[in-house]
Amino acid sequence: MKTERTAIYPGSFDPITYGHIDIIKRAVTLFDRVIVAVARNINKSPMFTEAERRELILEAVRDIPRVEVDSFSGLLVNYAQSVSAQAVIRGLRAISDFEYELQMALVNRKLDESLVTVFLMPHEKYTYLNSSIVKELAKFGGEVSCFVPPFVQEQIVKKLRDA
Ligand code: ADP
Repeated sequence: MKTERTAIYPGSFDPITYGHIDIIKRAVTLFDRVIVAVARNINKSPMFTEAERRELILEAVRDIPRVEVDSFSGLLVNYAQSVSAQAVIRGLRAISDFEYELQMALVNRKLDESLVTVFLMPHEKYTYLNSSIVKELAKFGGEVSCFVPPFVQEQIVKKLRDA
């Protein structure tokens, strides 16, 4: 029997953007199951709570088959083992991502030789996009509808209004 190929796509997703969604859509063409895993990082002060980030991801992947949403803390390799994942998906936007991503991939490989890191490149229109830029733009009243789905934009505006 063929074993199910599972990949995890870890990140902050604070909040999810069209760049992340682009990577998820590419990942499902390669794997049987893709788990989008929200990292609980105590060193960051996110705009959205972990539950809110998960909710937004769930809404964003509603029409993409074989995608699950989860959270994790601690070592990625331990989390990967706990969900029987063989691969980690990371998005590579630009050369600037490369150094850190290479370092992480090599450290994870050192910790678990069997865990493979797969780098996927988004459509070039998303290569300059990250969650921080979207939040910064929105803070100053900039238009973010080409970077995040409408329900994400709504929640950013609400957060900023209630802040
Ligand atoms: P951020 O979006 O703030 O860079 P995340 O931790 O949410 O950070 O990113 C999770 C993963 O998604 C990382 O591998 C990151 O490189 C990737 N990623 C984020 N934004 C994009 C994008 N616009 N295109 C492709 N990959 C992306």
